[in-house]
Amino acid sequence: MLQITQSWQQELAEGFNNIAEICEYLNITLETAKFIEHSPVFPVRVPREFVDRMRKGDLNDPLLKQILPTKKESLNTPGFTSDPVGDLASMTESSVIHKYFGRVLLITTGSCAINCRYCFRRNFPYNDYQLTTTKHQKAIDYIASHQDISEVILSGGDPLLLSDQKLLDLIKKIESIPHIKRIRIHSRIPIVLPHRITDELCAKLANIEKDLILVVHSNHVNELNSKVKIACRRLKSAHITLLNQAVLLKGINDTAEQLCALHEKLFTFQVMPYYLHLLDKATGTAHFEVSHHDSIELMNQIKAILPGYLVPKLVAEQAGATNKIVIA
Ligand code: SF4
Repeated sequence: MLQITQSWQQELAEGFNNIAEICEYLNITLETAKFIEHSPVFPVRVPREFVDRMRKGDLNDPLLKQILPTKKESLNTPGFTSDPVGDLASMTESSVIHKYFGRVLLITTGSCAINCRYCFRRNFPYNDYQLTTTKHQKAIDYIASHQDISEVILSGGDPLLLSDQKLLDLIKKIESIPHIKRIRIHSRIPIVLPHRITDELCAKLANIEKDLILVVHSNHVNELNSKVKIACRRLKSAHITLLNQAVLLKGINDTAEQLCALHEKLFTFQVMPYYLHLLDKATGTAHFEVSHHDSIELMNQIKAILPGYLVPKLVAEQAGATNKIVIA
């Protein structure tokens, strides 16, 4: 029988963007989930395949909690702001974010395959600052004129939502700048929409001569299924270094057991730990915060269980600081 497989673009288009539909799909009555609030500013968006990894009928599912908007998002908590990491203060006229020595960041798109409720850029004015085709050359010129830049980070939104053509064009332009040594992509797509990692894309990325690093973003072991494993294997076969950054999230992954399981499983996917981020204090996300004290306690527990190479660095980002602050 002829098997018809959906393209990743179709999968993306057919993802959930409606809370009522997600609840119905997961056998959760909207009445039970009455804490949910529709958010026009940061709408619900999640691939079906990711929802399939959630437990039916369980409002406490750790994957569901990452994507369901709640009334707590409307709270105005002191210390939480629309630009918690100081992106806008570091934005150059060329739409390049130049925050740290030696590396710059490009906002390649304002879209993601999934909208994570704890996102530090949930309030970011993408319409004003994302790298449109007309802004490309200015950004490339900026990077070319700064000899001290050795690494370019493609961020967003999610850079892997760009078409292969657009992504490769951008990477090749960056690669042609002699003083650039590495290109880093930050993407949650290998985790939430693994079919995007096609053989065609990986074959093209394998032809890039400069070092490519892909920092995936997985927070919980339940996110990691066989499709994600295949995506990671494909990326590895294109000689891409794979690292993971997670965000420490209250009620989602804030136990040693969960964090150990996550990093052990990632290792079997050939993904090494990079960062465990303290929550960036973006407006509307305070209910996800784990206290400083509890975070350090948690790290001590993890270190006592895992070999050193599986322990991520616990870090915080501070607006205006010249590097990430390593807490533990
Ligand atoms: S994928 Fe990353 S950038 Fe996109 S919403 Fe989630 S945390 Fe934010």
